[in-house]
Amino acid sequence: MPGFTPACRWQPPFYPFKREPFGRRLMARIEYAIKGPLFGCRMCGNCLLQETALICPMECPKGIRNGPCGGSTEEHCYVDPTRPCVWYKIYERAFQHGRQELLMEVLPPLDWDKTGTEAWGDGVTQLKKIGDGKLLVGVGRFASGILSRSPVKRAETWDSLFVPIRQPEWWQGDSEYHPPAYEEPVSELERRLKAGEFVVTSEVAPPMSVATGKLTRNIEMVKPYAAAINFTDSPSATPRMSSQACSLIALQNGAEPVMQIAARDRTRVGLQSEVIGAGALGIRNVLCLSGDNMRMGPSPMGRLDIIDIDSIQMLWILRRLRDEGHYLDGRAIKKTPQLFLGAAASPFASRPEFQAIREHKKVNAGAQFFQTNLVYDPDGLEVWLNELAKRNILDKVYILIGITPLKSLKMAQYMHNDVPGVSIPEPLMKRMEAAGDGAEEEGVTIALEIIEAVKDKQGVSGIHLMAVGWEEIVPRIVTEAGLLPPDFKPAPQKADVPAAG
Ligand code: SF4
Repeated sequence: MPGFTPACRWQPPFYPFKREPFGRRLMARIEYAIKGPLFGCRMCGNCLLQETALICPMECPKGIRNGPCGGSTEEHCYVDPTRPCVWYKIYERAFQHGRQELLMEVLPPLDWDKTGTEAWGDGVTQLKKIGDGKLLVGVGRFASGILSRSPVKRAETWDSLFVPIRQPEWWQGDSEYHPPAYEEPVSELERRLKAGEFVVTSEVAPPMSVATGKLTRNIEMVKPYAAAINFTDSPSATPRMSSQACSLIALQNGAEPVMQIAARDRTRVGLQSEVIGAGALGIRNVLCLSGDNMRMGPSPMGRLDIIDIDSIQMLWILRRLRDEGHYLDGRAIKKTPQLFLGAAASPFASRPEFQAIREHKKVNAGAQFFQTNLVYDPDGLEVWLNELAKRNILDKVYILIGITPLKSLKMAQYMHNDVPGVSIPEPLMKRMEAAGDGAEEEGVTIALEIIEAVKDKQGVSGIHLMAVGWEEIVPRIVTEAGLLPPDFKPAPQKADVPAAG
């Protein structure tokens, strides 16, 4: 007990809150003394080291347990540039040893009851189960299986010990594809994609106050040109009107929303309750994201190190809520929400083959459509698409390519230097520089060229226009790109609207 305070109130991330018996505390100390220096263990108590190339994933400042985030690079972690991306290192080692397919398993979120405690006890318990209640018998069976000449037997023996530990009953993650358990489209966006239409979705920025006039005007303006409108969830970790509120306003104005939901601001409880609420309001398209880190937000900086769930876990939880009719804790839910589940994809983060594994996991977990990060390099996009094609997932997910028209050279430089996972090739930078006062026009020309270059690529089902704070350019880009929807009707001008009464 500290000398000047009645109890220790500040706790490092994985320090146990509860007081364990002496024997377990001693075991935890010994485990940490060994696993800390060897594997960078953070004592999360939910050990995954066998699946993560013997590098502790809990060194990731976002706490992600299923692969690199959309901002990871070879050089460093985007949250903390003083250290490498631990997931990049895990993937690199797994590829070196030909064990990359092990990374496909959808791993569970932490059971916080175990954090800070020793994980070896789980191994002992499981060995007892293998030995029908007798530890020594279990050890013997495990040892004989692992020394077997048959690789299949060795793998089965290994899994008999570790799979039940890392995949508890309440999770049961795997490496398989789980197609949606319904046939009829649940949203207009899904209907159009299923019908093979090349769709446009567009982003409208949520307001920074409770005033909804501009939001409503932007929705009305964009609505005829887009199959659905995305509302971001406090991007750059900066609070704005919630995505759910904007989505409801869109519905009230006859537009179809895509509600974005960031793991950054949710616990497992908040995620499920918010999505059930969204379902009750009629919101069908839900895009699951990890979310921009607090590092990108204004000061004072919020807590960096804890995300209760990552985006892959969000998809896994929501797909099972919809298709299997139960909450994460196992309680049955009578009337389930109808959800068309989406995820972000990042063609230019880390390496294309690394990102492809993560996108594949998202598809397996439940992602039905991707909206990609901003694309300025169609050739680089092709490399990423080829990686997805090798994984046979192009027919399992609709891919909408992220397009943002550049407004100025300064914006281009900001995107390139400060936005994780975005890269603008040098020739485009030079064009923006040379354009001078005509930078806006050049930005639109570049956007149209990129749309033209990507729209016929394999697996591409549409584009996602993110004209941040420049929504009025959306109608022009969609029109000039030749992407007006088949049932297009322009929004009524003020003079066309019949007078009330
Ligand atoms: S770049 Fe992303 S995945 Fe990698 S360590 Fe940093 S936060 Fe984690």
